[in-house]
Amino acid sequence: MKKLVEAVLENLSTKEVFLFRVTCGSCGTEYGNKPIRFSKAEMPPTTQSKQIIYDALYEQEFGEARRIAIRNAAEHMNYCPICKRLVCNQCFLICDDLDMCKQCAADLEQQGNPVLVSFLEAK
Ligand SMILES: [Zn+2]
Ligand SMILES: [Zn+2]
Repeated sequence: MKKLVEAVLENLSTKEVFLFRVTCGSCGTEYGNKPIRFSKAEMPPTTQSKQIIYDALYEQEFGEARRIAIRNAAEHMNYCPICKRLVCNQCFLICDDLDMCKQCAADLEQQGNPVLVSFLEAK
């Protein structure tokens, strides 16, 4: 799942804030990370050396925020084997033969329960 999420992950990060998101192919709900501020966002580097250090730090924090976003999104996303879209738990059904998104289930006249509900009931 993480690989699929990674492939469609949108990078909305700026120089100050790290932000990534994945959008549900069906309902359009966005999943990802909460915006994370770059730790040196308010501190412009004063020397060349600082610039190099901050650049490396930015890269490090960027990678970390990206990992968090992928992990969060992967928990909410499912791959529909019929329409090949990534859809969120609310739009994905556990069916008898093959799990698929709500839209495909309707098209193919399949019955199923949303992942989210099944998950809650299982608890
Ligand atoms: Zn959805
Ligand atoms: Zn589908």
